[in-house]
Amino acid sequence: MGAKILIIEDEKKIARFMQLELEYEDYQVAVEYTGPAGLKRVAEEDFDLVLLDIMLPEMDGREVCREIRKISDLPVIMVTARDAVFDKVEGLDIGADDYITKPFAIEELLARIRVHLRRRDKQEREDNILQAQNLIVDLNKYQVKRKGELIELTKKEFDLLAYLLRNKGIVLPREEILNKIWGYDYIGETNVVDVYIRYLRSKIDEPFAQKLIHTVRGVGYVLRDDR
Ligand code: CA
Repeated sequence: MGAKILIIEDEKKIARFMQLELEYEDYQVAVEYTGPAGLKRVAEEDFDLVLLDIMLPEMDGREVCREIRKISDLPVIMVTARDAVFDKVEGLDIGADDYITKPFAIEELLARIRVHLRRRDKQEREDNILQAQNLIVDLNKYQVKRKGELIELTKKEFDLLAYLLRNKGIVLPREEILNKIWGYDYIGETNVVDVYIRYLRSKIDEPFAQKLIHTVRGVGYVLRDDR
């Protein structure tokens, strides 16, 4: 599945046009028509990029961008009208990554989107960040967040989670997990993997609607990033 993009644009025709073009390129697209509704989506869901109109009712696009920056570092491309006074400096000031002026050629918008998605992928690799949906594990900072909330894990829980994330989508047999995380010379309870999976679930999955860790009966566990 393609990257998930949120369009915040009050002009329904333009929003629809962008949505269709982006869906044609295999992106997953959500549309909101006001700033507050868009912000709510950003807080609740895990998007890869936001296209944000600057002239919005209720809440100006600049304000929306500042608010997004408080909760997320995802790429934001501002969509400005030709007569809106907006430039790179102001964009940087509010935390936007880029801007494009209406009317624009769809090819240009698509090119910008690709640049920012690629940059984000690369950044994530460099930053040593592992992610599945709204769960973010920062290996440098030893930090785990889900939906922006910090989650405290013990060292073993953290190692186990990082291992599951590195093997996202791959079913890991219990024994393999045991060997990797506890070592080949581990002597102790054989159900230690199940116990720690339970700890992990209670912290990173149970409080949230969408579960990431799944049991594969008779085999082991898999962390899935279904969207
Ligand atoms: Ca507008």
